[in-house]
Amino acid sequence: MPKVKNKIIKKVQEKKAKVAGVPELINEPIKSNKKTPQLVRGFKDILPSEQKYFRFIGNRLESLAQDYGFEKIDPPILEETSLFSRAVGKETDIVSKEMFSFETPGGERVSLRPEATASVVRAYINHGMLNLPQPVKLYYTGPMFRYERPQSGRYRQFSQFGFEILGDKHPVLDAQLIILANNFFQEIGLKTSVQINSIGCAVCRKEYKTQLVNYYKTQKANLCVDCKERLYKNPLRLLDCKEEKCSIIKEEAPQIVDWLCDECKNHFVKVLEFLDEVQLPYNLNPSLVRGLDYYTNTVFEIWPEGEEKKSQSALCGGGRYDNLIELLGGRPTPALGVSVGIERTILKLKELNIEIPDREKRDIFVAQLGEAARKKCLPLYESLRKEGIRVAENFSKDGLKAQLEIAGKLGVRYSLILGQKELSEGTILLRDMEAGVQETLNFNKVIKEVKKRLENQ
Ligand code: AMP
Repeated sequence: MPKVKNKIIKKVQEKKAKVAGVPELINEPIKSNKKTPQLVRGFKDILPSEQKYFRFIGNRLESLAQDYGFEKIDPPILEETSLFSRAVGKETDIVSKEMFSFETPGGERVSLRPEATASVVRAYINHGMLNLPQPVKLYYTGPMFRYERPQSGRYRQFSQFGFEILGDKHPVLDAQLIILANNFFQEIGLKTSVQINSIGCAVCRKEYKTQLVNYYKTQKANLCVDCKERLYKNPLRLLDCKEEKCSIIKEEAPQIVDWLCDECKNHFVKVLEFLDEVQLPYNLNPSLVRGLDYYTNTVFEIWPEGEEKKSQSALCGGGRYDNLIELLGGRPTPALGVSVGIERTILKLKELNIEIPDREKRDIFVAQLGEAARKKCLPLYESLRKEGIRVAENFSKDGLKAQLEIAGKLGVRYSLILGQKELSEGTILLRDMEAGVQETLNFNKVIKEVKKRLENQ
């Protein structure tokens, strides 16, 4: 052993000498302008203290995905810009104002994905999933990017968890997707309200749009600047305007459900009947149109209960997109999906002080006093961990007080303490942090004893 140590010491000395011999370049101090780079506006660090929320929500959604038979897909974050302009729609806010787009050194026009449905559909076509038994049920999770005005619940990078069902038009699937999303919010303790509407198919929507535009033209003078533009570019979005003066006009606007063709009406009625079967309450919302062009028939959002007036706060949104696969070059194939906003869900959990289980919680802390104790505690920690005990330590600390403070902060039930006295006696102290009492255990039996106590607590 000492031989090995000597070798290491020699190596370090040689290395030092080598560096010392190298001219200025290495020893020259790095010039710094002292100013620490800041986050880009609308972007955030997800700090360790936040991670438990993401983990909790991710795990809950993941387990729902398994229950309902969805398989995971991870499309890339970067796609050709044309994917989104074709799928989401050139005139939508997302594509016309909110995309992070740039040209690659190779000259391709690309965008950071503002949403993932378009990518899932592209992948479905690219990988011939049209030929698999239908429907194909996929889920994804990850960051999305939209150049929106940053505010609470609205970021330029945010995370979504989405479910897509491709290759089936049965209305039971629309209902089941809503049930799944609603189950998620129920299970994490959020009270919500389901908002639902049908925006029909291309044919009946065309009819309806004409009626809508005719009505809004009579009100043109009273519309906000954006709505004056929407009137010609994207009339359905007139219904989505948050401006007060436009909301008043909206109340008298023709409602799309009155213009649905028989097929679309039947589809919608069946979706509602399925929801009635599971007694899931919903609110028929005639002004729910969603901000993406690809939707057809059923559209829905889930809002926190009591926030029906602020559609800004939707926790998730989804619907059918029966024309999208064809629009992107596949054969005509019906499909539908939903996407949950993870940050918004977290905000709501926090706002309502909903406790989430902390799976990272430790059961026991190993404290040591002195170098010899540290050497015995290092392998003890490894053995406890291998036995499946959730153990914590802070081996670089010396004082017992500092270590027990950390143990207190972690909320462990027990601390093991190894000092000089215990070391010489072959024992170790077990301190019950709640009761404030401690007992002496035989060091060789410590794992067995700890397990017994954890099982009995
Ligand atoms: P969308 O893809 O627009 O249908 O949005 C689905 C869900 O993602 C919304 O209901 C929100 O919960 C969430 N979301 C959308 N945009 C943002 C954003 N800029 N910041 C945070 N969450 C967002």
